[in-house]
Amino acid sequence: MSEKFHAAVLNLVKQIPRGKVTTYGEIARELTGSVRAARAVGRAVTKNPNHIIVPCHRVVRSDGDVGEYRLGVATKIRLLRAEGIEIQDGKVVNFEQTLFKKEDTLRFVTDRMLGKLSTWLRILGYDTVYAADIAIKKGEEDEDEDNAIATFAACEARILLTRDKNLAASARKNGVPCVQIETAGVMEQLKELLTHNLNINLEPVPVRCSECNARIRKVEAGEEAMLKEKSYVPMEMIGKREFWVCERCGRIYWEGSHWRNMREQLRRLNEELFEL
Ligand SMILES: [Zn+2]
Repeated sequence: MSEKFHAAVLNLVKQIPRGKVTTYGEIARELTGSVRAARAVGRAVTKNPNHIIVPCHRVVRSDGDVGEYRLGVATKIRLLRAEGIEIQDGKVVNFEQTLFKKEDTLRFVTDRMLGKLSTWLRILGYDTVYAADIAIKKGEEDEDEDNAIATFAACEARILLTRDKNLAASARKNGVPCVQIETAGVMEQLKELLTHNLNINLEPVPVRCSECNARIRKVEAGEEAMLKEKSYVPMEMIGKREFWVCERCGRIYWEGSHWRNMREQLRRLNEELFEL
């Protein structure tokens, strides 16, 4: 295993926040694009020289089993419990919810000018609240809406994205992380986010509803009736494709031509960025 790989693994482990875990496979996938390097990741993690700076106890097996630890499994369990993680029979309880997901690191709130960007960020998996969806009392002045957005961003630890110079300035003055978007096209806007050192992943992931921002889940076998109820779901695809459903609004998703178009646009953006 190369030194570079070793360092990259430990660098990723450092990003797992308290109260969250990740898996060897997930780190492997992040670094190599495949889970096959999971064992190599495991070896890198055991060679961790500093257990305080690099919290390698937060890396577990993909089935939720806490796995090994240089200082012993009992110590690993004790450390995880101290961070609020529930463990039963050597396994993480509520494993799905405890998993640290890359898209959870960046959370956004966007102003009313950025509806399309919100949709795209959700397609890329990012938790993005659109200003128009925040309950704001009717009849109040614009200034109040600005305040409400900034306060919301601060309370929820979200990055505020806005096209409004004044809103950006006042947010920054109040210590709210904020990016002022200069361009109008959504691809250009994504590019802008990258130039602001926000490490946006440009691969669509089916984890979030692009309409309402809630999580989506896979439609299981036996749930086909739910698909047939929706007139926009192509009948001939039922049983042949994978479908996802929004837990909140019930919208159905699948990887159709719309999805392929988006992938293509993102691929072009990636290429463009690569040439910069
Ligand atoms: Zn939804």
